[in-house]
Amino acid sequence: MKLYNTLSKAIEEIKVPEGKELGLYACGPTVYDYTHLGHLRKYTLDDVLVRALRKDGYKVKHVQNITDVGHLSDDGDEGEDKLEKGAKKYGESVWDIAKRFENYFWHSMDLIGVEKPDISCRATDHIEQQLEMVKTLEKKGFAYVIDGDGVYFDTSKLDDYGKLARLKLDDLKEGARVETKGKKNPTDFALWKFERKGENRAMVWDSPWHERSFPGWHIECSAMGMHYLGDQFEIHTGGIDHIPVHHTNEIAQAEASSGKKPFVKVWVHHNFLQIEGEKMSKSLGNVFNIDDVVEKGFDPEALRLLFLTGHYRSEMNFTWNNLAGSQKAWNRLLKMVMNLRDKVKSDEVFSEKGQSKLAANYSQNFYSAINNDLNTAQAIATMWDMMKDSKLPGREKLFLLFDFDSVLGLGLEEASLSKNATFKGMSKVKAPQEVLDLLEQRDQARKDQKWEKSDSIRDQIAELGYKVTDGSNGQEVEKL
Ligand code: AMP
Ligand code: ZN
Repeated sequence: MKLYNTLSKAIEEIKVPEGKELGLYACGPTVYDYTHLGHLRKYTLDDVLVRALRKDGYKVKHVQNITDVGHLSDDGDEGEDKLEKGAKKYGESVWDIAKRFENYFWHSMDLIGVEKPDISCRATDHIEQQLEMVKTLEKKGFAYVIDGDGVYFDTSKLDDYGKLARLKLDDLKEGARVETKGKKNPTDFALWKFERKGENRAMVWDSPWHERSFPGWHIECSAMGMHYLGDQFEIHTGGIDHIPVHHTNEIAQAEASSGKKPFVKVWVHHNFLQIEGEKMSKSLGNVFNIDDVVEKGFDPEALRLLFLTGHYRSEMNFTWNNLAGSQKAWNRLLKMVMNLRDKVKSDEVFSEKGQSKLAANYSQNFYSAINNDLNTAQAIATMWDMMKDSKLPGREKLFLLFDFDSVLGLGLEEASLSKNATFKGMSKVKAPQEVLDLLEQRDQARKDQKWEKSDSIRDQIAELGYKVTDGSNGQEVEKL
């Protein structure tokens, strides 16, 4: 696998010594509100990266955090805590908010086919590791206390602070970031914060500096990353918004405390998703989540397919029109697979028959695209070329498609098996599982030419409020 490394500004080959694990840390969500389409894009492409690395034979250990505390709403060390903000908005406790939106995050990941990381770690479950790191930094002379405010990292103690973002520190001194009284340098940042008088925060812990205090928001990723993956590991991912502050500060904390460089070899940054040409924002009313997508009658797989048609380092403009196009493409793909499945027996698909040269070429093109900085757009184009190639036998098509899909994660094999129907004006996800099961049974009954059984299942489906008819492409379902 070759990936673009923000640190070196070059495409680099991922090399791990034989038999050694590849440590991959992904910045996880801040769980104070609904997981939105931007998050879905980021984690879908992380998922494809992990699948692709595994397919290449790397032994990936995927760690992802859940930020459930102390993440302030701006990149400085002032501003409102995002979780407290969520708690106020929904009228619930911070702990309930964190739980509710973490659950919503997993629900969203599940629908779009993102596999769970090997380790999912909450910031609140790792206070001890974070405290230890701040204590080490203080002992090594990298930290100082601002009375009544917090413990700060002294960035002037590092000769290469800001290397990830190529920060020009002299310019920053002029137009300082966010002013905090008592900071020695404009780029210094909070490692640990103290509760202010009268603040009465819900999430506070005792520390050597203050009995009611809480972590700064960068410390969790350095501490948990090193706890699970060691002082140095291979890959770290996050959105491009994290380059100048969050990841810059993660590097500073980690390298100063361990004394080892580099903390992370390859930094992978995802570009942002825009909605109808605009930045996602509450005030524009364009923050959508996976349930909005399903409610409008789209399949989560269509959204996943849409995300895969763009490169993770390019900005993507989401439009409902594009999603409708992707839904058509998904339906077409599913139909092609179902037709092929009817013709080819599954034991034939997976039998060890030799691969033709043509099939080997498609495989080569697909994986060279994927391994070239995760060029999913090119990989999807190769997939379509392969599916439309009349010279390629059906057995090989299915074999290749299911193999490609182990990286793309569209769940084609399962979808083509269990969803033997076209859903008119509604999403399969919205149809109750009972209906999906009955459709599968009815499909089988029809294949076995058991017409009476098929009719009786149709009646059962009608009782559940759905009408099923038989079109040229199999069963068609509508809500009654
Ligand atoms: P947050 O929950 O805001 O901490 O974000 C979790 C991850 O999603 C981070 O890596 C962000 O950079 C990323 N992210 C947030 N908004 C978007 C967006 N609109 N498009 C793509 N990625 C995003
Ligand atoms: Zn992080």
